[in-house]
Amino acid sequence: MRPIEDTYRHKGLRKKLVEVVRGKGITNEDVLNAINNIPRHFFLDSAFDELAYEDRAFPIGEGQTISQPYTVAYQSQLLEIKKFEKILEIGTGSAYQAVVLAELGAQVYTIERQKKLFEANKGFAFLKKYPTIKFFYGDGYEGLPTFAPFDKVIITAAAPDIPVKLIDQLKTGGMMVIPVGAGEVQLMKRITKLEGGALKEEVFDRFSFVPMIEGKNS
Ligand code: SAH
Repeated sequence: MRPIEDTYRHKGLRKKLVEVVRGKGITNEDVLNAINNIPRHFFLDSAFDELAYEDRAFPIGEGQTISQPYTVAYQSQLLEIKKFEKILEIGTGSAYQAVVLAELGAQVYTIERQKKLFEANKGFAFLKKYPTIKFFYGDGYEGLPTFAPFDKVIITAAAPDIPVKLIDQLKTGGMMVIPVGAGEVQLMKRITKLEGGALKEEVFDRFSFVPMIEGKNS
């Protein structure tokens, strides 16, 4: 069961979480505000009611996880979101990251390959507050050619390589934030698509994501 009440206690825990995330080096106040505004416990089973405000990843079923708040903040900060930008997210999972992007004013297109997780979000009433998020069931490696090009692409699963089709769906000047690596640990990279199609690559910290898997799972 999902909790539906956002109490003063939850709000207090959230404020503390924001300070933890800030303490780890996140400086973008809009991103920190988004974390402060979003009841993360809504995205988890009620068994995680208070744990939800620890800076940790938690299971959401199907062997998948809701990302750690610090990680969500880190990727969101690297994306440098501006209001009304069109963002493609690969790996909807709990939809927490998608809601953070929506709170930042983005138009979010998010894809999930696990049918059960996609269906669970259909029944998640809180998401009705965010009509700027569009949910898709499919293989993120394919992206969403019909809705391309995107200003930004965020990958929330570990990719062994940069998915070429997703680079094709980026606008010139657009950026992709992606954890790259085939093993347990990945490097966060930011790829900028330059005029003429050349790619600029910046490398940031190490993270540990669940793998990005090809094809969809019914
Ligand atoms: N953004 C999520 C993180 C979920 S973990 C959140 O905030 O909770 C990563 C998710 O990526 C998992 O749900 C996994 O099923 C999904 N995933 C992995 N490979 C994928 C692919 N090729 N296409 C779409 N989703 C994928």
